[in-house]
Amino acid sequence: MKYLGIDLGGTNVAAAVVDEEGAVLGKVSLPTPRGVEAVADQMAAASRAAVEAAGLSMDDIASVGIGSPGAIDPENGVVKFWSNLDFRNVPLAEMMSRRLGKEIYLENDANAAALGEYAAGAGKGSQSLVLVTLGTGVGSGAVLNGKLYTGFNYAGMEAGHMVIEHGGRPCTCGRRGCFEAYCSATALIKRTREVMEEDPNSLLWKLAGSPEEVNGRTPFDAAAQGDAAAGRVIDEYVDYLGCGIASLVNLFQPEVVCIGGGPSAQGETLMAPVRYILNREDYARNNLHRTRLVRASLGNDAGIIGAALLPLFR
Ligand SMILES: [Zn+2]
Repeated sequence: MKYLGIDLGGTNVAAAVVDEEGAVLGKVSLPTPRGVEAVADQMAAASRAAVEAAGLSMDDIASVGIGSPGAIDPENGVVKFWSNLDFRNVPLAEMMSRRLGKEIYLENDANAAALGEYAAGAGKGSQSLVLVTLGTGVGSGAVLNGKLYTGFNYAGMEAGHMVIEHGGRPCTCGRRGCFEAYCSATALIKRTREVMEEDPNSLLWKLAGSPEEVNGRTPFDAAAQGDAAAGRVIDEYVDYLGCGIASLVNLFQPEVVCIGGGPSAQGETLMAPVRYILNREDYARNNLHRTRLVRASLGNDAGIIGAALLPLFR
């Protein structure tokens, strides 16, 4: 049997057909329209197109899984709240079941991505995995003993809102000092801009032109060329990232922690110093068996693959 996964985003709706191993057989991405019914129609259109791209028919599809941002009620298949598209109590599973005639599974997109990496990516074959995605925010999800861990109310594993600096930077969630306020790609860019303004001689000016043009790569590029200001930004970033990751390792001792999102493209430049912090702060640092820290390997496909395979890990 094949499984269909849908990744619902604010910009695009992507659908893919995957096999039970998580290999993508056909994938289609369409722009996300406005309005609940239009979004559901587009999701159905992307699904049919993905099935066709895979050279299959709808009869070959066992079920459909959806990864959606926002507050999700997977049990009832409802998107309770998603600010981006102004979704409130949208019965998305029921709407899609009507359109596609299949059993529908709905999950939070960060959780779906963790499941994807666990089933088919960086954590394939492992017992447990925590995924941390460094993007607009810090997304996270955990698969423990082969099951997605969501908390009793499906709102768990918001590692982005774990405080790593008490009384620190304000966060969009209302707390201060959240992991996300220091380690999202957005936070990295914001901090780079601040440091740039303070240091008119920094190479950051030459590389970016203006603070507005700073992106997630700029501070890494400048630091690699020996710029002291950028070096401070990266050292601080890595320090906070290591702090957050070490706390997650101490909580779960997962077999694998994988890091995704823009900054993870830096590879060992980012991983090696975080591993150094883990060697110092992992409570199990003297154990024979240690958590492996790796880069997420599926990129944007993690969510879609995880969504498709949801019925196998519930
Ligand atoms: Zn927060």
